[in-house]
Amino acid sequence: MVGAGPGNPELITVKARQVLDECDAVVYDSLIPDELLVTLLPAVDRRYVGKKSGRHSLPQQEINDLLVRLASQGKRVVRLKGGDPFVFGRGAEEAAYLKQHGIPYEIVPGITSGVAALSFSGIPCTDRTKASYVMFLTGHQAVEKFVSGVPWGWVGGARQGTLVIYMGVAEIGRIVKRLIDAGMPAETSAAAIERGTLPTQRTVITTLSDLPDKVEATGVKPPALFVIGDVVKYHESLQWFQDRPLFGVRVMVTRPADQAVPLYRELRELGAEVLAYPTIATVEDFRSDEWDALRKLSGDDRWLVFTSENGVRYFMGQWYATIGDIRKLSKYRVAAVGDGTARALHARNIAPDFVPTRATTSALAEEMVRTLRLTGVPVVRVRGNLGDRRVESTLERGGAHVVSLPVYRTFPTRWLAAVKDKLFDYPPDMILFTSGAAVDGLVANLHEEELKRLCDPAIVVSIGPATSRVIHSHGLSVDLESKARAVSLIVEELVACHRASALVETRGGG
Ligand code: SAH
Repeated sequence: MVGAGPGNPELITVKARQVLDECDAVVYDSLIPDELLVTLLPAVDRRYVGKKSGRHSLPQQEINDLLVRLASQGKRVVRLKGGDPFVFGRGAEEAAYLKQHGIPYEIVPGITSGVAALSFSGIPCTDRTKASYVMFLTGHQAVEKFVSGVPWGWVGGARQGTLVIYMGVAEIGRIVKRLIDAGMPAETSAAAIERGTLPTQRTVITTLSDLPDKVEATGVKPPALFVIGDVVKYHESLQWFQDRPLFGVRVMVTRPADQAVPLYRELRELGAEVLAYPTIATVEDFRSDEWDALRKLSGDDRWLVFTSENGVRYFMGQWYATIGDIRKLSKYRVAAVGDGTARALHARNIAPDFVPTRATTSALAEEMVRTLRLTGVPVVRVRGNLGDRRVESTLERGGAHVVSLPVYRTFPTRWLAAVKDKLFDYPPDMILFTSGAAVDGLVANLHEEELKRLCDPAIVVSIGPATSRVIHSHGLSVDLESKARAVSLIVEELVACHRASALVETRGGG
């Protein structure tokens, strides 16, 4: 029974991350950050039990049964809940059911939204001069036409403390009336915090009596919390989160999840909300015949040609598994297509000997043929399953003895229906494509109409001309083509592009 934290994927405990990395199945709700799910090992059985758009969540009894069923199959099951499982999370009901069925469990606490969303708004829940206690309350109706079991009349007498109300959006008018009727001053400070800790967080500041109108006027939607008390006054001076350069911008990242984590983090640091929607994934492809051919190569002048980070990563793994000793690599000189591939080599303490002036695979092969003497020289072309054989044929025409060595395969990932629904509920402002394959992977997941609906209003960002060509081939347009051609540098270009578009909007408005 694991708390996933309030929504920002970094606000998860070390223990929770550890059990996610070691589990066999995850049963999760709707407020769970995508990034926690896409970074699970591929074999993990994922079960979504939250609200589907327009529909209801799975009934509690079915969730309970699902947990028991999965656990009875001998699986280590993570029941992943937003915030803390024991704060308005029905964690106790599920734990009791497990206990009844003799299933051992442990409970991993999470940061509850009623604390975290306040921190991210610069609002302390307690304070030496303004609040000596904090109350967590539910605004949800337990029974029709009857506002929950909270003694609102009694709560309305509270002074010098903080009220944090969960699940109250639909009821806030009635709640405020009960509090004011019970004597709480109408001018008490109040805040609504929507999507707290996420980069699309919104904090609305007002007074108790104006809260319902303000919620209505600004269109506050769940998940949102209400905070009532003097501590709200700190927001103005202590807020820090909304000042980031990409604050509030939703960036969809289509890159394979196992390569995208540093990018996710960098975007989040800048305030962006990352929509982790990998459209492709890679798996190892090991060919013993080709490795035998490589082992038979002789002579002191040999080349290894890398055209992707994946190529470097999978090749090095297979090198250690089949050959082992890194010193045997010294017989090879190394070519890399561009910055990203070169960086992947540097990260493994290999400095490439050849990088073409233009970062495309065809330029790489042509420049190698033009500037190096390759006649009779063994050249190992490390590759995946996609792409044509132009590199090989150009090198062969240049007289090289080419060994084509596939080390990985790329395939499109299939999104669950619920995952797709969520994308359209909160569509991206920017969509980032770092390869043509990632574009094809998106196209494979969407109907033509969906593709247009998603991409047309967004800023479509391409890593370079080859990727742009694929985007165009699907009838979509490219709004920004990276000059840097390296994933690690593209973020700066996104910031510049966002600044420029924000400027246009301000000018347009003024
Ligand atoms: N167990 C969860 C609460 C579940 S009840 C926890 O500890 O946080 C669901 C309610 O939590 C929502 O209706 C909303 O009031 C609140 N909530 C959850 N995540 C939130 C977020 N990121 N921002 C604001 N409120 C949030």
